[in-house]
Amino acid sequence: MSDAVSAVQTAGMCAPEKARATSNYFTFVDGVEFAGTHLLIDLWGATNLGEIDPIEAALREATATCGASLLDIHLHHFGEGAGVTGVAIIAESHISIHTWPERNYAAIDVFMCADCDPAGAVPVLKAAFQPARVRVTEERRGIETSAPEPRWYEETLDPDLRQRLRISKVLHYEKTAHHDLMVFENPSLGRVLALDGAIQTTEGDEYVYHEMLVHTPILAHGRARRVLIVGGGDGGALRETLRHDSVEHAVLVDIDETVIALSRKYLPKINAGAFDDARAEIVIADGSSFVRRTENRFDVVIVDSTDPIGPGEALFSEAFYAGCKRCLTPGGILVTQNGVPAVQGNEVTQSYQRLRAHFADVTFYLAPVPTYHGGFMAFGWASDDVSLRATPLEKIEARYRAAEITTRYYNPEIHLAAFALPNDIRALMG
Ligand code: SAM
Repeated sequence: MSDAVSAVQTAGMCAPEKARATSNYFTFVDGVEFAGTHLLIDLWGATNLGEIDPIEAALREATATCGASLLDIHLHHFGEGAGVTGVAIIAESHISIHTWPERNYAAIDVFMCADCDPAGAVPVLKAAFQPARVRVTEERRGIETSAPEPRWYEETLDPDLRQRLRISKVLHYEKTAHHDLMVFENPSLGRVLALDGAIQTTEGDEYVYHEMLVHTPILAHGRARRVLIVGGGDGGALRETLRHDSVEHAVLVDIDETVIALSRKYLPKINAGAFDDARAEIVIADGSSFVRRTENRFDVVIVDSTDPIGPGEALFSEAFYAGCKRCLTPGGILVTQNGVPAVQGNEVTQSYQRLRAHFADVTFYLAPVPTYHGGFMAFGWASDDVSLRATPLEKIEARYRAAEITTRYYNPEIHLAAFALPNDIRALMG
């Protein structure tokens, strides 16, 4: 057998410290007390598997090498050319064996309590059966612990790729009228809001998303007084919008009042009092109906939507984009949450085509938001004023300074650089 194969396949097994017996024949290793060590041993390409005698000899020798006390051996041979099944009964539990000589394969379990060393069986079995490959897995039996198993939130957004975030504490779980909602804590990211199996925002990296979603259109526009946010129930986009003193009125239209209520309660670091700002108006409604009917007009429309599943799907339709165009002032800007192109490339393609039907200038700009896994995330950009996305750096810098906002990710250079698209994303735009 190759040592390399053996080393990899047995990695992690067998404590280096020698086992000690404790009361009632329990085992004590590495400061942990437990019933005993159970090794599951697979031998492939093995020999001597079709006769009782070599198997019995191997079990006797393995028992002795492990320091165990043999009580009895029972082995049964299934006949000419067939395998053997059986067990060595030992005072400290057992070694069992089941062989398939026609497949040169044997499955062996070694379970021993007290101060035995079950790992001692492995070289004996290798010598007796000469396997080409061996796999040993180890389980410590009877460990008593009151510590709960770690729990994980698994995103189910993508059928082929999964992201998991450790849950250190569930703060709230609820099936709202529109979503399956969970707020939990993660040791690295702080509080996390998840809807329908998709991470919406986290205290740890929300600033990248919200700063880029909001400051890019507002500073490119330069005189935005009225802003519409569609979705955005966590309040992060509203918070960033209201940091601009130039904004006189910000309307946030979200379909799910429970998202807002729970974000107020559990995510105050994200909304930072924005819902209570006198310039904010909160409307509970479907965003796609709102933009079709409202008589209000906005300089900037920010779509801070969920992904295009469930109620969020309407916010990616051509009818919705037509509604956004309808309620924009001349020269206004629409920006959208448009997914991660590397894993949701079709969102870029569809939104591009649908936006192009209504706006003279359509593109995307990018930012890496760690918890939206898969690389850059794309923000859609649509306006009838083609000059806005190429607003010169000096102008953006002057507006940024005048706004007197401090940002952790956004800056004027990043603003302009975010519009540089790699070829694979350009290709998605057809
Ligand atoms: N930053 C997030 C992301 O990238 O996934 C989005 C966050 S925000 C929580 C998304 C909001 O969109 C939710 O509060 C949800 O209720 C809202 N929403 C979903 N569908 C909607 C619709 N048709 N009209 C208005 N709001 C909607």
